[in-house]
This record gives sequence, C-alpha cells and structure tokens, in this order.
Amino acid sequence: MLDQYAVIGNPISHSQSPRIHALFAQQTGQSVQYSALLAPLDSFPITVFDFINKGGRGANVTLPFKLQAHQLATRLTERASCAQAVNTLTFENNEIIGDNTDGIGLVNDISRNLAVNLASKRILLIGAGGASRGVILPLLQQKPLLLTITNRTFDKAEALQQQFQSYGNIHARSLDHFIDQSFDVVINATSASLQNTFPDIPVNVFAVDALAYDMMYSKEPTAFLKFAQQSGVNHLSDGIGMLVEQAAESFYIWRNVRPETKPVIALLKSQ
Ligand code: NDP
Repeated sequence: MLDQYAVIGNPISHSQSPRIHALFAQQTGQSVQYSALLAPLDSFPITVFDFINKGGRGANVTLPFKLQAHQLATRLTERASCAQAVNTLTFENNEIIGDNTDGIGLVNDISRNLAVNLASKRILLIGAGGASRGVILPLLQQKPLLLTITNRTFDKAEALQQQFQSYGNIHARSLDHFIDQSFDVVINATSASLQNTFPDIPVNVFAVDALAYDMMYSKEPTAFLKFAQQSGVNHLSDGIGMLVEQAAESFYIWRNVRPETKPVIALLKSQ
C-alpha cells in the first residue's frame, strides 16, 4: 500500500496540492498517495484522527483550519510556534508534529526562482493576517535591511512588530506613512486581490528595479500586480511559486527527498 498523505480544508476541491504532490512523487519515485479531504467546518480534529486511523502519515492544512491545526499539534517547530499557524502535520510515534512551510516557500520562491537576494533589502509586507504572520520569521532570517509591515487595521501590524521584534529589524507603519519611502521588495499578503482590489499604497513605494509580489495567484494578473505594473515595476510575480515551494518543503519533511520545483511551477503556469 502507498503511504497516505492529504490536504485538509473547506472548501478543498480547488486545491492544486494533490496535483503538485503527484508530480513530486512521480519525479522522485516515492510511493506516495496524496488526496484532498473536505473537513466539515466543525469537525477538523475528527477528520484528522480519522485519517490517522486509516494510516495517514501526514497532512497539509489549508483555510480555515491552520489555527486549529496549531492547537491540535502535540509538538511544534519554531517557525510554526512563531506563526501560530500550521500548514503541515506529520503523524509519527503517536505524536502530531506541526510545522509551517509557507514562509520558507515564499523565501525560496523569491530567492531561488526569482533570483532576488533578500539580504540587506528594504522589504514592505502588506497585510497582517495568517499568511503574513507565517512569513515574518523566515523573511527576517534572510537579514533584510528592514522589514516594514503595514495593514488596513493598523493594530494588527503593531502586534506583529511586538511579537517579532526580537528576531530582527521589523517596524509597523500605517498605510498613510509611505509618502516618501520606497522598498526593494513589496509583498502583498492581503486577500484584497480576491475582491479584485489592492491596498491603498502610493506608487512611490516601489523603488527602481523593485520586485512586486502578490501571494495570491490567478490566471489573470491580480489588481495589485496591475497597479505595480502601471507604476513602472517590471519585476512582478504572483504566489504560484510560493505554493509549489511550500509543498516541496512539506514533501521534504515527510520523505526526506527534495523535489525539483521549477518544472512543476512551469507546468502550473502554462496551464
Ligand atoms: P487573512 O484573512 O488571515 O488576512 C487577510 C488580510 O488581508 C488582512 O490583513 C486584511 O486586513 C487584509 N485585507 C483584506 N481585504 C483588504 C482590502 N480590501 N484592502 C486592504 N487589506 C485587505 O488571509 P491570509 O493571511 O490567510 O491570506 C492572505 C492572502 O495570501 C490570500 O490571498 C491567500 O490566498 C494568500 N496565500 C497564498 C499562499 C501561497 O502559497 N501562495 C499561502 C497562504 C496564503 P484587515 O486586518 O484590516 O482585515
């Protein structure tokens, strides 16, 4: 029998994870079966335990259960503990180990696939929800010159500054603070693109040769990426590479084998 893995969420039918992991398994010759599990909104723990009882070895967790997965884990990695959110569960020796690979997925996509070295860069992170919380520690570990975080609801950005200030140079600034400041990397970690809109930032936030990165991905360029392009930015990326890179890190945690991500990203982009 193949080793069983799954992605658990609600909704889940749109998830690309089964496809990505099938491509990784094929590429690396690992005997893995990866399925999508719809958990009822009030029954995430039951779904997890049921999967463990059926022989599940690990699971990815997506919206809206990352917080519950954090609570369910019996052991957490440092990055999951800092993020207070878990997207990767490993079931081992009667333990549920929680990890968060979203941040390293973003960092690997920017540094390896987009060839932008984050060390000494000025980074602007827009948004203070779960995705933002998950990427702050891995971003600070790249030793940027500064990481500025902003959010529509400013209190949440301030809370993240306080939580992470011992890890590096992080500052919270309100959205109306960027009249004369520019950044080398501007990351949209809001869900505004889902509403086909973008955060209220001035064009000058993009430095010459800046990278504009939207964690969301879609067939058409997102509203944020269109705004960046109209502001003169040439280096644009959506979050499809992050999605594949976070999956690769989960695959590595479970199988101790690193899949090649570039062909998988190219395939998803082409379709
Ligand atoms: P949350 O719901 O936790 O947070 C949403 C954030 O977006 C908040 O900061 C919220 O601000 C802000 N926001 C929402 N609408 C607007 C708006 N119209 N203008 C300005 N700010 C707005 O979502 P997540 O953090 O979990 O996800 C954020 C995005 O990241 C999603 O698009 C998601 O798809 C993407 N993502 C991509 C991944 C990948 O692998 N590529 C992985 C994880 C997430 P406020 O606090 O004021 O409400």
